[in-house]
Amino acid sequence: MSRKKIIAGNWKMHNTPQQSLAFVKAFLPLVADHTRDEIVLCPPYLSLATVVEATKGSNVMVGAQNMHWEVKGAFTGECSPEMLVESGVTHVIIGHSERRQYFNETDDTVNRKLEVALEHGLTPIVCVGEVLEEREAGLTEDVLRRQCSRAFRGISGKKAAKLVMAYEPVWAIGTGKTATPEIAEDAHLVIRGEAAKAFGDDFAHALRIQYGGSVKADNARTLMSQPDIDGALVGGASLDAAGFAKIVKY
Ligand code: PGA
Repeated sequence: MSRKKIIAGNWKMHNTPQQSLAFVKAFLPLVADHTRDEIVLCPPYLSLATVVEATKGSNVMVGAQNMHWEVKGAFTGECSPEMLVESGVTHVIIGHSERRQYFNETDDTVNRKLEVALEHGLTPIVCVGEVLEEREAGLTEDVLRRQCSRAFRGISGKKAAKLVMAYEPVWAIGTGKTATPEIAEDAHLVIRGEAAKAFGDDFAHALRIQYGGSVKADNARTLMSQPDIDGALVGGASLDAAGFAKIVKY
């Protein structure tokens, strides 16, 4: 079975609305004829509306980098799933390691966000991955199993149909140290195994799992030719329109 790859650019805290608009204007013509893969741009909250508007009618979709699990309430500084949906956002990154590291995201908040994102019809991109010390201690598999099983807790396979996973080894993010295709493939198999346990074999077989961590134009093809790598979550290299278009067209 062939899974349509999903290539997403996570801009992190880069690109003002005007800069985002300039990016989209440069990027769309470069990927206009590209239907092989799903293409997603994930700008910061304040640039979402601009990017949604500028990509209307194109083959490029828009994702948020985070959201709160509550629909509304006294949560100063937060953004709700309903706000994203009404703004035309279709995807949302959940549990990125920077959120876990700097903003106290836990496996539990990831689980709550995942459930709510699915309820609102968003396509969640749930990030999992080990830090360097965990890899060096031989704990990678345990960490991935724990992060996945807790993220999936209480969620039914029927509800989770849109789920996308991203394997992002923390030691590879923004460091230029990309995981080897073999390391990534092994991790993806672990994640697929956890999805099979939680949601069944058919679900796991159809589940798309992105790799993220120093993906660049010159390593994208090798990574994505692995049987269980179904796309990429790209940080730094997604900030340049021509460079990101090259990754999309790997
Ligand atoms: P990077 O970031 O491509 O800059 O390593 C990936 C990510 O954090 O999603």
